[in-house]
Amino acid sequence: MAVRVGRWDCPACGTKGIYGPETRCPNCGSPRPQDVRFYLPDDAEIVTDEDKLREARAGADWICGHCRTQNKASESRCHGCDNPRDEASEDAGLSERTYGMDEVPTDSFAPKRTLHPDMAPPQRKGKPMRWVILAGLALFVGVLVLGALPRRISVTVEQFSWERQIQMLHHEAVSREDWHTPSGAFDVESFQAIREYKQVLRGYETRTRTVQVKVGEERYVCGQIDKGNGYFEDKYCTRPIYENREETYQEAVYDQVPVYATKYRFKVMEWVPHERHLIKAQGKDHEARWPDVSQYEGQSDFRRGARKETYTIVVREEGGATHQEAVGPKFWESLSKGQTLQAKRAWLFNNYYGLEEPGKDQ
Ligand SMILES: [Zn+2]
Ligand SMILES: [Zn+2]
Repeated sequence: MAVRVGRWDCPACGTKGIYGPETRCPNCGSPRPQDVRFYLPDDAEIVTDEDKLREARAGADWICGHCRTQNKASESRCHGCDNPRDEASEDAGLSERTYGMDEVPTDSFAPKRTLHPDMAPPQRKGKPMRWVILAGLALFVGVLVLGALPRRISVTVEQFSWERQIQMLHHEAVSREDWHTPSGAFDVESFQAIREYKQVLRGYETRTRTVQVKVGEERYVCGQIDKGNGYFEDKYCTRPIYENREETYQEAVYDQVPVYATKYRFKVMEWVPHERHLIKAQGKDHEARWPDVSQYEGQSDFRRGARKETYTIVVREEGGATHQEAVGPKFWESLSKGQTLQAKRAWLFNNYYGLEEPGKDQ
């Protein structure tokens, strides 16, 4: 529990490194300030003298409520005005502070925060640069957001295009494999196949692992206590000591055992959508029609499958820019060339957002 001598600096004459226990500046005689912040230089000497150790551990100095003189804890009367130390005269003690190892102030101009939250941290000066950067950033984001807001513009319909397709389905035999056969299956063969894997316990194996075992505790210096009287004392904490030990344990070992079942390979008739039987019609006019599939008529192994239709228009802005838009069939049908529609674009940026009501669901 080493005790060291702290230091303070005289704000009146600027003398630095005054011995902590001194209550007056040895240079100008000014009293040690009431809000003195003691610090501990790296080369602070360890106190061995018994009287000084007793003084260091007696407690924080106190300030006389009558004459502001600073007195040692051992003094029961003020050595400035001889009034007794008591609550009634508003005598105040200097406060103890506890610092973490890397928080101990080493000079009076670098006070650092204390371990205890009830001791207020030193006031930070505002950083004007940070506010300038934040304001600039806010302005930048604001311009981005406002500039991207939509405004209404007029566009005219200039061109139509459409595409319609019909998928013809061909009735044909396809090969399948499954765990059961559907109705209508033919050319059925059966064979054995792995359906799943089962975990089967093979046994236990002895393994070793390293574990941490707590074998005791140790005390170590974890900070410094500013005693409020010019001295600093080591703060001790305890921490557990661990040792690595080898430990054996049993681990279950499993085998993955395949489970076989009867599987079937068979043929079955299905309606198949071949790419070559996807029949399309398209045009750049306003007369949409379905593609001609008359070549399949009378063929019982073909039938109609899914239909798909897409409709687009090209609109022109007053400025001249054109945009292609996908629209719904009924809306497309209702339009005529040269018709005016409402669309949206960004206030500042060159972004076109599309028609107000593209009518895609109609
Ligand atoms: Zn001084
Ligand atoms: Zn006094």
